[in-house]
Amino acid sequence: MQVKDSVVVVTGGGQGLGRAMAVDLAAQGAKLALLDLNEEKLQETVELVREAGSEAHYYLVNVADEEAVVSTFEQIVKDFGALDVLVNNAGITRDGLLVKAKNGEVTGKMPLSSWQQVMDVNLTGVFLCGREAAAQMIKLGNKGVLINISSISRAGNMGQTNYAAAKAGVVAMTVTWSKELSRYGIRTGAVAPGFVATDMVAAMPQEVLDKITSGIPLKRLGQPEEIAHTVRYIIENDYFSGSVVECNGALRI
Ligand code: NAD
Repeated sequence: MQVKDSVVVVTGGGQGLGRAMAVDLAAQGAKLALLDLNEEKLQETVELVREAGSEAHYYLVNVADEEAVVSTFEQIVKDFGALDVLVNNAGITRDGLLVKAKNGEVTGKMPLSSWQQVMDVNLTGVFLCGREAAAQMIKLGNKGVLINISSISRAGNMGQTNYAAAKAGVVAMTVTWSKELSRYGIRTGAVAPGFVATDMVAAMPQEVLDKITSGIPLKRLGQPEEIAHTVRYIIENDYFSGSVVECNGALRI
């Protein structure tokens, strides 16, 4: 699919990877619908999209709220008259060990709330936005692309029972959607980034981050623009569907 003139929805478009994707695609002539919880950040991204030479609307919405997601996708189609691509990018971490134990005594467990919050945003949010985007694309009778942002953590990662499960889940959704939606001309894809320099990674303790960086064969974190480039590759490649692209500086976990 040609990026120029396509209407692209990016969830979590306020900052980080979502913002980089919005700016990259805007520079190629895409129009952006940006979803996020943070209005100030959304306004900044809209401004950057304009500076890149395109247009954007923003929608203040929690991707885990069914009613809000349904009405937002209706509104996007009203505002743009089209919907070509969804990037399911909004995501959170609530890291913690499953159980912590010292001297044989259990001193902590991952709270159910940490599990549930991550499931709500990283899995239910992806499901709801994917469902609504696909429904609108089919109604419009056009081709489309659904892209889910997974993570290297989908392989299983210390302290990320919740996040790893959700990020493996979005890959399973990606494959399922390719089987169900190819008949409508809708392609799917997932991107599994390694560690990328955004606020999400900056929130990690410095000594953990140093250890991670020294273990990355390319010896540096990824840049948000490098993940945006990978998303653009999936949009532009018409024979790409149902698979995951890893972009991680050769790191294996
Ligand atoms: P970030 O925290 O910098 O940005 C995430 C954005 O999502 C924020 O603007 C936030 O407001 C928004 N958001 C959070 N919950 C939301 C909700 N319920 N509804 C709507 N918007 C919501 O994170 P990032 O590093 O840019 O990560 C983006 C995606 O990439 C996430 O899915 C993350 O899991 C994934 N990822 C990131 C990395 C990394 O190293 N940064 C690596 C692998 C995967």
